[in-house]
Amino acid sequence: MSLLDDVEKTLISQVAIEERIAQLGAEMNAVYTDNDLPLLVCILRGAFIFMADLTRHLAFRHEVDFMVISSYGKGTTSTGVVRILLDLAANIEGRHVVIVEDIVDTGHTLSYILRNFKARNPASLRVATLLSKPSRREIEVPVDFVGFEVPNEFVIGYGLDFVEQYRNLPFIGVLKPEVYQSQV
Ligand code: 5GP
Repeated sequence: MSLLDDVEKTLISQVAIEERIAQLGAEMNAVYTDNDLPLLVCILRGAFIFMADLTRHLAFRHEVDFMVISSYGKGTTSTGVVRILLDLAANIEGRHVVIVEDIVDTGHTLSYILRNFKARNPASLRVATLLSKPSRREIEVPVDFVGFEVPNEFVIGYGLDFVEQYRNLPFIGVLKPEVYQSQV
């Protein structure tokens, strides 16, 4: 059985993602200049493909850094309890920072990251997320650059996983119900 046999449907095609990320890059190019020298922080592991594509559409000088976050709880819901498994290499005090996320769902993870980063006194702090599920929001979080709003379904692909798999699918999709059920 191939990975694709587990997919029920495609929500966002590879071409649509590529086009939208180019637009997000243009939006960010209108905000930042070389002088700002922003630091883009990729929240791993889900945002690794988004970050790699986004950074190549940015015309201003910038640096990249990475943070590994783990939400407690396996399966398809996050508990809102967040652990930092690997912290930034950079000191962000006085720097312009852009958090690059895969998806904002309830908002708990991003809310935690924002609080944590604000305590380090950056010059500015913005958020870029590939996906947002507004209908699931439990905490209001400011998001500056949003790729797509998605319905209340558990999505995979383009960096997003289910049980650490399916990240390599080049589109955003939904798995067949029996695949989710077999793991919970
Ligand atoms: P939140 O704290 O906003 O509820 O959840 C954020 C994190 O939960 C995301 O960074 C992601 O790791 C995970 N998550 C939330 N919704 C989805 C989804 O539909 N698919 C996948 N693969 N992960 C999700």
